[in-house]
Amino acid sequence: MTTSRRGLLIILSSPSGAGKSTLAKRLMEWDDTLEFSVSSTTRSPREGEEDGVHYHFTTEEDFKYAVSEGEMLEHALVFGNYYGSPAGPVRTAIESGSDVLFDVDWQGAQQIANSALRDHVLSIFVLPPSIAELRRRLETRGQDSAEVIEKRMRQSWDEISHWDGYEYVLINDDLDQSFERLKTIIAAERLRRRQQPGLMEFVRELQSEFEGEET
Ligand code: ADP
Ligand code: 5GP
Repeated sequence: MTTSRRGLLIILSSPSGAGKSTLAKRLMEWDDTLEFSVSSTTRSPREGEEDGVHYHFTTEEDFKYAVSEGEMLEHALVFGNYYGSPAGPVRTAIESGSDVLFDVDWQGAQQIANSALRDHVLSIFVLPPSIAELRRRLETRGQDSAEVIEKRMRQSWDEISHWDGYEYVLINDDLDQSFERLKTIIAAERLRRRQQPGLMEFVRELQSEFEGEET
């Protein structure tokens, strides 16, 4: 017996390089009902990034217009570029009871947690096991110049300092273990009473069955 479920807004944040994109990718492969919130950004695409898949790459003018039209659920300036989560696909997913996965910074997480959709939020912060390992991961990812890596390292403490605004915190040391923990968190959150609006009706049915037995 399954009852209908309310969608979750699963927010993953971390300092750049701690591993949230890797974990997000694994989650998407694990559960094909999950929808990834493709953000809009004014930054340039990295090698291998596809428009409409990893991000919607846009100009500052178009980005600001979308914000002024209320089309972003949240938006923020990160590393000198604008990033935002388009509201339309999130609303559609929530209306159909689907879960949405977000890879956003602490500012975005805070805005979603304060939005009208706050009751759907599941927020998870990913910490690196050490600062040396964070640097090593940024360097071995090989996607950024030395200058960009230094900038990201300098800003990582700003992101880490918001760790305590999240419901769950994962120290991403062993990737497989972190992924197992992430799946456990999501599986449990999906079973929360508030996520199962059909429970009331189900229990009423149990009650009438129970009363039928008594007569
Ligand atoms: P973020 O999205 O947080 O910026 P990424 O997911 O791109 O970080 O990860 C940064 C780099 O670290 C990638 O090369 C990734 O393969 C690697 N990585 C992620 N998690 C781990 C882990 N637990 N152990 C070792 N390397 C990892
Ligand atoms: P990157 O340029 O490495 O893809 O992302 C840089 C940072 O921007 C990461 O911390 C990422 O989580 C954050 N980010 C990506 N998309 C969004 C978004 O839509 N909104 C906000 N607030 N942050 C985002």
